[in-house]
Amino acid sequence: MMKQQLKSVLVGCLVASSLGLAHAQTYPDRPISLVVPFAAGGPTDVVARMIAIPMGKSLGQTVLVENTVGAGGTIAAQRVARAAPNGYTIFIHHMGMATAPALYKNLNFDPLKDFEYIGQVVDVPMTLLARKDFPANNFKELQAYVKANKDKVSMANAGLGAVSHLCGLLFMTAMDTTLNTIPYKGTGPAMNDLLGGQVDLLCDQTTQTVPLIKDARVKVFGVTTLKRLDALPNVPTLNEQGLKGFEVKVWHGMYAPKGTPAAAIEKINAALRVALVDPMVTQRLKDLSSDVAPMDKVTPAGLKTHLEAEILKWGPVIRKAGIYAD
Ligand code: ASP
Repeated sequence: MMKQQLKSVLVGCLVASSLGLAHAQTYPDRPISLVVPFAAGGPTDVVARMIAIPMGKSLGQTVLVENTVGAGGTIAAQRVARAAPNGYTIFIHHMGMATAPALYKNLNFDPLKDFEYIGQVVDVPMTLLARKDFPANNFKELQAYVKANKDKVSMANAGLGAVSHLCGLLFMTAMDTTLNTIPYKGTGPAMNDLLGGQVDLLCDQTTQTVPLIKDARVKVFGVTTLKRLDALPNVPTLNEQGLKGFEVKVWHGMYAPKGTPAAAIEKINAALRVALVDPMVTQRLKDLSSDVAPMDKVTPAGLKTHLEAEILKWGPVIRKAGIYAD
């Protein structure tokens, strides 16, 4: 009996490993979905579409961008956590992956247990913007206006845990005020409303905002890095305008469902690395004042270590601020 059991376990293992080998040899033999947790047209979507084409070329299969929106990116993360771990679903998300555990009381996924790591992707600064006809013309006037008109001013974001939300919170805390916040399914649609004048303020990534700032379609009050950006040399930092230490640079990572075969992760990682040195991608990122992650971080271990550190960093900050969703 024991012998029989041992035999079936061994046969099972052999079948599994030869299936794994077959998978490794043929993978990928159909398109791969790259899930984006925010609406089309926004900054995360811009990055995803920028790298999807060269990644697809390296993999020999189309990488299809799919937007699964809502709840600051957590709906998409949950979908990916439950997806078949076969290498045909991958996921790009920003630092919201690290803030979600502290922000959401009932999170239906675990960023540290439910995913395989592929690598870090890009680091993107943010800008503080207003609609074009907003009454304040510079940061000093903005401060005065916001203080005097707290109940009239609205600020858009992409939901609890989105970086637009975190940046907005940092701004409001620095101003010692609370504004009416309006959540969207991504800063793509939030920006449409800013351009249309339906909402007053938005803090958003340069991957979406640089062209709009250059065309003067929005008002800009500052950048969220400690140094000015090459693409926007005339825009002062918030730090130099009195918000000492105000710094947000948005890191992004690429993930797959837990259990995705190591051979598939290796192939996707290799394609990601190729995409991130593609001259079209690097030039476009440069024009948007964004940086490719250092190559030693474009690795499963690089992303894992960073995510763990970021969860530890944000948890106490968020808990202290007392912000969370049920
Ligand atoms: N990056 C945006 C945010 O987290 C969302 C988006 O990419 O649309 O605020």
